Amino acid sequence: MLGLSARLAGLPAVGGRVLAGGLSCHVTDRPGRRPYHEVTGENVCPNMVRGIDNVREPRLNKGMAFTLEERQRLGIHGLLPPRFKTQDEQVDLCIKNVSRYQEDLNKFIYLMGLQDRNERLFYRVLSENVEQMMPLVYTPTVGLACQKFGLIYRRPRGLFITIHDKGHIYDVLKNWPEHDVRAIVVTDGERILGLGDLGAQGMGIPVGKLSLYTALAGIKPHQCLPIVLDVGTNNKELRQDEFYIGLKQERVSGAEYDEFIDEFMQAVVRRYGQNTLIQFEDFGNQNAFRFLEKYRNKYCTFNDDIQGTASVAVAGLLAAMKKLHSRLSDHTFLFLGAGEASLGIANLCVMAMEQEGLSSAEAHDKIFLVDSRGLIVNNRPEGGVTGHKAEFAKDMPPMKNLGDVVKKLKPSALIGAAAQPQAFTAEILKDMGEFNKEPIIFALSNPTSKAECTAQQAYEATQGRAVFASGSPFDPVTIGGKTLYPGQGNNAYIFPGVALGVLCTGMHHIGEEVFLRAAEALSRMVSDAELDAGRLYPPLNTIRDVSLQIAVQLAEHAYRTGKASTYPQPDDLETFIRSQLYDYHYGVSVQPVHPWPALQ
Ligand code: NAD
Repeated sequence: MLGLSARLAGLPAVGGRVLAGGLSCHVTDRPGRRPYHEVTGENVCPNMVRGIDNVREPRLNKGMAFTLEERQRLGIHGLLPPRFKTQDEQVDLCIKNVSRYQEDLNKFIYLMGLQDRNERLFYRVLSENVEQMMPLVYTPTVGLACQKFGLIYRRPRGLFITIHDKGHIYDVLKNWPEHDVRAIVVTDGERILGLGDLGAQGMGIPVGKLSLYTALAGIKPHQCLPIVLDVGTNNKELRQDEFYIGLKQERVSGAEYDEFIDEFMQAVVRRYGQNTLIQFEDFGNQNAFRFLEKYRNKYCTFNDDIQGTASVAVAGLLAAMKKLHSRLSDHTFLFLGAGEASLGIANLCVMAMEQEGLSSAEAHDKIFLVDSRGLIVNNRPEGGVTGHKAEFAKDMPPMKNLGDVVKKLKPSALIGAAAQPQAFTAEILKDMGEFNKEPIIFALSNPTSKAECTAQQAYEATQGRAVFASGSPFDPVTIGGKTLYPGQGNNAYIFPGVALGVLCTGMHHIGEEVFLRAAEALSRMVSDAELDAGRLYPPLNTIRDVSLQIAVQLAEHAYRTGKASTYPQPDDLETFIRSQLYDYHYGVSVQPVHPWPALQ
């Protein structure tokens, strides 16, 4: 694969490095940042860009927004229709095009095409229309896109590293044409959303998540690298699918798999430096916890399914505390599910309660979990309790039925993350309403069809007293003449802002307290009026401000605790972070200073 700079210049390259002698790339050295080669925006290396590249290269393309002067200067006059358009007009056209499609998958395909054609326009459309566009480039549509990946595949995006590359992962990374990668989202495709093992077709997830890094937190697209680690798939149907794009073999596991992941982590640091953020996404349950433990203090890494979910859910709980004028330690929490989401939330709740003054044991005592085999208790006869669950095991007789557990414990907060649709029955919800003035009920399972209950059911069973949040969006509900707006605990409130804070401060490791600080920052952004209307999160269209504020809070925390490595410390953190953000508006296109002579 040619390096981007080389492709722009028409030069041969190996592993992304330009070979021609005497070539100097434009290297910027911003205060507090390592020097880097940039091929976008104001820092384009002018003598390496031919006129036509301004049209062909999505990062430079402005479509019909090139002015007459630019068209003439760049030598592209006549290559575009004669009309001139503003970016505003282009955005309107894109939105009209999206709405012309009936099916969400077709809308997704259109938006991916736009990303491949005109990057700045794509990000402006996404950033300024978050509520409408996010569900199309991310959940739920991205799930469908992953399932149909082979069918709708057009152009490569992201890096595919297979188990056959073991021993050579660094060389594959060198083929990636960008030199300043700062953030990687990686999956092995084993547990894509609630859809199971989609193997290499899981690539849609890192691509989608990183689109949100840029759209919601202003992280520059060329600094983001989506990666799939293809070790095969245990999805037999997929292996037999004629369109499947990955290795048609069973998953490699055990020592070989672990060595492969180890090599990948080391290769990333060797290629892009120790501060490269590596976000793990949609790994199988066992591996997700294992890798988090193994790598959290060695690399700059986090797992969004565990830690991002925990942070957004705890933010909802902290907002609920504001509404109820109470503290987490005043409550008893019952979780349905004891997987990545539930355990992540439970652990972060423990940390938050410790901050309120409880001991670890006291905090654990307030949290109860039910998994597929019933209440997590010590010496459970059917299906023992191991690993992280064991920390929450109680000395109680085993109980299987959630309704019985609710009656016995009378919890004040009931949190569902087990993908068991309608598990919060009318009776359970009614009981919650009887045991509590304002019961906290979170139905976090996605998609909507897997939710433990709907917003309507929770409000109706409690005469509108429930403090409700869900994983998937629900429409407002009017009850007793009052309209309530159910909160949606979308991870997108958290991970882009966390990534921005981490990158701007150069944190080496992302400790658990980062996610608690992020949750606190998010909960502070919910106004009293919003709380009164039932919301536990700020409106989705304010999410870019949310990301910025989370990043600022994390930066303050990082400098205060000595975790930042970007020095000297900027005088004003918000101004500094704002100065790092991606600008999707068109600038003046760069004129080729010396047209590049053809190579012999
Ligand atoms: P997971 O596979 O790690 O865990 C699922 C858990 O549910 C396991 O502990 C399993 O034992 C338990 N379970 C299965 N059947 C059960 C039953 N009949 N009764 C009780 N428990 C049962 O999955 P996860 O990553 O924890 O995700 C779970 C759900 O949470 C998914 O639907 C996911 O979409 C959702 N989720 C929501 C958010 C969010 O709202 N922001 C974030 C992450 C995950």
